[in-house]
Amino acid sequence: MVARRRTRLLGVGAAACDHVRMDRVELAVIGGGPAGLMAAEAACLRGVRVALYDGMGSVGRKFLLAGKGGLNLTHGEPFEAFAARYGERRDEVSAWLRHFDADAVRAWARGLGVDTFVGSSGRVFPNDMKAAPLLRGWVRRLHRDGVAFHMHHRWLGWDEDGALRLATPAGERTVHAEAVVLALGGASWPKLGSDAGWVETLAKAGVAVAPLQPSNVGFERRWSEHLSSRYAGAPLKAVVAHWTDRHGRAQARQGECVLSEYGLEGSLIYAIGADLREQIAVQGEALLQLDLAPHRSESALAEALGGPRGKRSIGDWLRQRAGLDKLKCALLFELLDSTARNDPRALAAAIKRLPLRLQRPRPLAEAISSAGGVRLEALNESLMSHARPGLFCAGEMLDWEAPTGGYLLTACFASGLLAGRGAAAWLQGRRDAGDVAATAQARAPG
Ligand SMILES: Cc1cc2nc3c(=O)[nH]c(=O)nc-3n(C[C@H](O)[C@H](O)[C@H](O)COP(=O)(O)OP(=O)(O)OC[C@H]3O[C@@H](n4cnc5c(N)ncnc54)[C@H](O)[C@@H]3O)c2cc1C
Repeated sequence: MVARRRTRLLGVGAAACDHVRMDRVELAVIGGGPAGLMAAEAACLRGVRVALYDGMGSVGRKFLLAGKGGLNLTHGEPFEAFAARYGERRDEVSAWLRHFDADAVRAWARGLGVDTFVGSSGRVFPNDMKAAPLLRGWVRRLHRDGVAFHMHHRWLGWDEDGALRLATPAGERTVHAEAVVLALGGASWPKLGSDAGWVETLAKAGVAVAPLQPSNVGFERRWSEHLSSRYAGAPLKAVVAHWTDRHGRAQARQGECVLSEYGLEGSLIYAIGADLREQIAVQGEALLQLDLAPHRSESALAEALGGPRGKRSIGDWLRQRAGLDKLKCALLFELLDSTARNDPRALAAAIKRLPLRLQRPRPLAEAISSAGGVRLEALNESLMSHARPGLFCAGEMLDWEAPTGGYLLTACFASGLLAGRGAAAWLQGRRDAGDVAATAQARAPG
């Protein structure tokens, strides 16, 4: 300990002591996902010397996984609609997006030699749909600009001197950093590095953390063996979901979801998942009503289904008269008893509002992203912790959520940029204050 203190006082760059290697860095960025890499880039561009640490053997593993599904980088819709995707955190996230919005994401990718296109749904992808070329170019540029990468460095917390404790294959290492950006991700897909090991450490350090929960995830509902063995993986196209939001308001949204072995998943379910999760937390289950024929009224359906069916099966009748596909018919068969199936009015009512009771979201490890995390109230507008000045947080580890559509990566980039710039400004402020103090001391009489 004495040796460690002396080394720090002497301002030595790196030293071995007490079997713990110790270094000093200006800015330590911990976590090499999109948020951490962007923080490192932003600080580096402002002249800060950055060391980036990650517990894994390489950076950006979740970013690469996202590339397997086509890497939806951002979304082309207007700013206000875009910002609304962040729900309860719309105001806070809008403030980040004003520094780095969807256009900025596209320009940034172009700067790395990757052009993007806007798909028919408004989602923005790299032309080749891949993450690897973008990540490779980005890391190469960061290396060239002087960011020092340290892989297999897992952050464990702080020691009693306030130095960072990092577990490495060669043993524990201690780093004194003037400022720190944590960009440690949430807790989905933990095998890719983000395992939320930081939650307890930050909470103990006085940084408020909202419990992590699965976001952009499927919900469970038991199906019969017949339905799941025949239709698991099949899309439920062009349906409208009706549900009650967390403020008790009736909501409706058109989209597409997928019937899975365990229940329902897909973009429509992800988009309304926060409200479904909330309903389950309060009531023990969530009620989702699906309109299987949004373009036809209940009365028109009842009339169409009311005519003489002759020898046709109910399935054929529903397909011909109500325009339903096989999966929609199978769902009606699954949920209606034989009396309702043979009653045109009951059938029409069920087609317009098929009630599905959802039991629980799938586990966080399976989710595309996490909700919860470091409460935004625990940070200032530069994402610096009130409890620990000089500590900044960015990315998915913050308490916001959004549906899929490129909104996740955009907010990770934007918050990373803000934290990196904030750290650079904070370091500069300390230098300026140091200069003023030194000047005042030099001018002091006697
Ligand atoms: C299957 C899948 C597909 C996705 N597709 C898309 C998509 O198309 N579009 C989109 O917008 N979003 C998508 N996402 C979400 C997006 O990838 C994440 O929101 C984003 O990667 C989060 O960035 P981050 O930098 O905050 O955290 P991460 O990318 O999770 O990075 C955090 C880093 O911190 C490191 N780390 C964690 N703890 C420690 C520690 N204690 N010490 C040192 N290092 C640590 C991890 O190793 C990791 O490298 C997808 C996610 C998944 C799982």
